[in-house]
Amino acid sequence: MLVSMKKMLQEAKREGYAIGQYNINNLEFIPAFLRVAEEEKSPMIIAASDRMVDFLGGFKNIAGMVQTLYEDMEIKVPIALHLDHGQSVARCKQAIDAGFSSVMIDGSHHPIDENIKMTQEVAAYAKPYGVSVEAEVGTVGGQEDGLVGGVQYADVHECIRLVQEAEIDALAAALGSVHGPYQGDPNLGFEQMEEISRQTQVPLVLHGGTGIPTHQIQRAISLGHAKINVNTESIQAWTKAVRKKLSEDEKVYEPRLILLPAIEAVEKSVKEKIHEFGTNGKA
Ligand SMILES: [Zn+2]
Repeated sequence: MLVSMKKMLQEAKREGYAIGQYNINNLEFIPAFLRVAEEEKSPMIIAASDRMVDFLGGFKNIAGMVQTLYEDMEIKVPIALHLDHGQSVARCKQAIDAGFSSVMIDGSHHPIDENIKMTQEVAAYAKPYGVSVEAEVGTVGGQEDGLVGGVQYADVHECIRLVQEAEIDALAAALGSVHGPYQGDPNLGFEQMEEISRQTQVPLVLHGGTGIPTHQIQRAISLGHAKINVNTESIQAWTKAVRKKLSEDEKVYEPRLILLPAIEAVEKSVKEKIHEFGTNGKA
């Protein structure tokens, strides 16, 4: 059975490591993630980004695929199925109804009062199902919800209000990370991070983990980050492998043969992340 991310995040925060969130981009990503999680004895958060849900066949299809594979592959490690950047209260409710064990409500593009109200509504709906809730303050740079924008650092007081007024299990406080590749060096707000973590005590989430040097990742973990989202790195590895296969083998036309090396590349990249974040052997 899929689990919420509440317990795994609290354990990670207490023991000083972070759980990786890995995003589904097509069916083949799911068994790849599950295989690696089981092999590495690692708890894992598998996510579908709201903007990808229709492409992936809808909420029910995604939840069905993950649950079925979890059972058929006899997975024993804790796996959460999470909605990444849920765009509205209604979308989060649909995900919960379909069997997602965790949701993010992203009200960060709204004024803080509206953000808190949306988050409260999702948290109230999620609670009886035991579904965990993540919310966001500030703006992650790069592509977010299809909006390309600059970085806007999370305001400490808004973070405290959101955590106190809505019952959430994880807080994405945007502090200089970006979705997609970095232009220049990442500039994470470690001082604000420390302050937000100390004042809210809630596990923090780092969006846009790709391209942040390992020592900065380690520092973010030591300052309260218990969840790190990874997508760009896995999909870059996937695309590179597909491109290589197609350029090296002009005769290949069977999708399976084209996708096998790509899936291997995704597995390798996820394995590296699990070791970087320290989740291997933690399940
Ligand atoms: Zn994100």
